[in-house]
Parts: sequence; structure tokens; C-alpha cells
Amino acid sequence: MYKKLFIPGPTHVRDEILQAQAAPMLGHRAKEYSNLQAEVTPKLQQLLYTQQRVYLYTSSSTGVMEGSVRQASVKRVLNTVCGDFSGRWHKMTAANGIPCDKVEVAMGQAITPEIVDEALGAGDYDAITVVMNETSTGVMNPVQEIAALVREKYPDVLILVDAVSCMAGVKIAFDAWGLDVCLAGVQKCFALPPGLTICAVSDRARERARLVQYPGYYFAYSQMDKSYEKNQTPATPAISLIQALNKQMDDILAAGLEARWARHKEMAAYVQDWARKYFALYSDERYLSLTVTNVHNTRGISVADLNKALGERGAMISNGYGDLKEKCFRIAHMGDLTMGDMTWLTAQIEDILGL
Ligand SMILES: *Cc1c(COP(=O)(O)O)cnc(C)c1O
Repeated sequence: MYKKLFIPGPTHVRDEILQAQAAPMLGHRAKEYSNLQAEVTPKLQQLLYTQQRVYLYTSSSTGVMEGSVRQASVKRVLNTVCGDFSGRWHKMTAANGIPCDKVEVAMGQAITPEIVDEALGAGDYDAITVVMNETSTGVMNPVQEIAALVREKYPDVLILVDAVSCMAGVKIAFDAWGLDVCLAGVQKCFALPPGLTICAVSDRARERARLVQYPGYYFAYSQMDKSYEKNQTPATPAISLIQALNKQMDDILAAGLEARWARHKEMAAYVQDWARKYFALYSDERYLSLTVTNVHNTRGISVADLNKALGERGAMISNGYGDLKEKCFRIAHMGDLTMGDMTWLTAQIEDILGL
């Protein structure tokens, strides 16, 4: 049976988008493809409030996290860690032989400008990684404030942001905030099938990459730049996904960005209130995610059984991530889900649990 996805990726994909993905194939060196990339790129720049480059990478987000950190530093990288995905970025940095340190907070806590200031001040860093929305804990880090601090006090430090589970769900003003890399796979808030990652890169980051001795190849900005102006990618892109993305961006812009941000806020507030009423919130109230809520399982229910029962009714939520399995469950409210979906889902959970 088909289950509507209330998990933090992949998310529910609308039928119109699935159909757009089934459009006839194009040659990736043909004018038709260049036209497609030339159409979709400015729409992504509008979404991210940027005039700088936005690359389309045929890869899951993890690949671009690794590719971007390889090109970020000629000194030392500071990885901020507040959960599993931010922890992964530290592991990738170390696995590539890049000098790095991590500054870590407990699960459910946020990375604050104060923490970043103290850590950056203690070493000779030229790049920092931050996960904006830590999907494993339901924390949204204050990236705008962190970036303001870094831009003011540490002008040489590049700011790399994993916005995988919040880009296209919350406002990210790439240029105004002074970010250097901001990436997201399309299977979360973009509500597309997986396989493509959007990545905005600042001119400053592209300059830095030129100084890095081993920037890699597939993800190298210098490789992407060879065909960027021709509106192509160096290797064969996921053309079907880009066709679907173009349609999705038209729909997103037609509905209005402000409306999209407002819908995500409304869904988040609703699910948070519901969680407070029947359970509790796991993470720091000051930094709750606007795209996924990590519900603390204070009633000791079986999350696996709940999900099984939901499955019979055509829905799926997520268990707690890693060590939080059964201690928490996560409800995603991202992408193209609506308030109607959220009220339907919580009613099902109340009914199943007899709340
Ligand atoms: C899902 C997720 C990832 C991993 O994305 P993939 O596309 O599976 O590689 C990385 N970071 C965050 C914050 C995520 O939510």
C-alpha cells in the first residue's frame, strides 16, 4: 500500500512532479538541455536570494558535503557538531586528510555564535561547517547569527552550510548572510525524488578552491565552471530530475516564497504544540526546527508499532535517529505537505494510541 511520507526525506512527491520527471529525454550536450539549465538556475538563485553561482550536482547531499569541504581550506577546518549529520561532516573532513577539529554540543542542543566564536578564536581556521537543520535531533541552528559573527570577526573563514533538510522550506538569504557554500539534496524540502543536490557557492569560495592542492575532481568548482556559462555540467546530469525541478521551481515561485516559508512555520508550530500536549519536545525550545519535529517519547509507546499501524492507514513517520530510536519519533513537516496533512496525521496518531 502507498504510504504518504511524513519522514525527513525522501518526502511526499506530488503526481505533477512525478509526471514532469517522465518527460522525454534530452541530450545533455544539446541546446534543449542548455535551455533547461538556463531556465532553472535563476529560479534557484531567486530561492536562495543570491546572484552568485548555483551548481546542480548529480549526487546525494553527502557527496557534495564531501566535495565542498575538500575545496574549502588551506589551513584547518572547524566542524561544528550537534548530532549525526553534522558529525558526519567532521568524519568526512578527517577522512580526506584535511586538518580539522570539532566543537560539539549535546544532542538536542544548538550551535550558537558564542560557541563558534570561542572555538574559532582558539585556532587558526579558514573554514567552518555548520548543519543548519540537524535532522537527527530536530534542532535548527541560528545560521544567520553565526554567519554575522564569522563575517565580522573572522573574515577569512569560509562558512559551509548543510541546509539539506531546510532549503526550500525556510528562508536562506545566501548573499545577505554572507554564506560561502549552501547545499541541499532535492528529496527533502524540494519534494522531488532523490538524486540531485543544489549547491550555492560564493565567489570567495571559488577563489579559495583554486588555492587548494587536491580539490578533487567530480565536485570541483573549477570543473563545474568549465561548462557553467554554457549551462551544462561536466558529467551527464540527472536530466529527468532537473526537468522535475524546473516544474517544481515554477510552482514554488508561483505560490510565492513568503507563502512557502509561512506554511512551513505554521505546520511546525502546529506539530510542536501537538507534541507538547501529548508528549514533549526533545530539543532546546529556543532552536526548534521548522521542518521536522523530534517528539520525546515520554509515554513509552512502541514507535515501531505506531508506525506499523500508521502504515495500514497510508502514512509513515520516522523513528528516533540512531541512539534516539524508540526514545523519540520524528514527524517531518516539509516540502509540499500542508496543514491538512498534519491535522490528518495527528488525528490518526491520537486514534491509534487512544489519546
Ligand atoms: C538527509 C540529510 C543528509 C544526507 O543527505 P543524502 O542526500 O542522503 O546524502 C545530510 N545532512 C542532513 C542535515 C540531512 O538531513
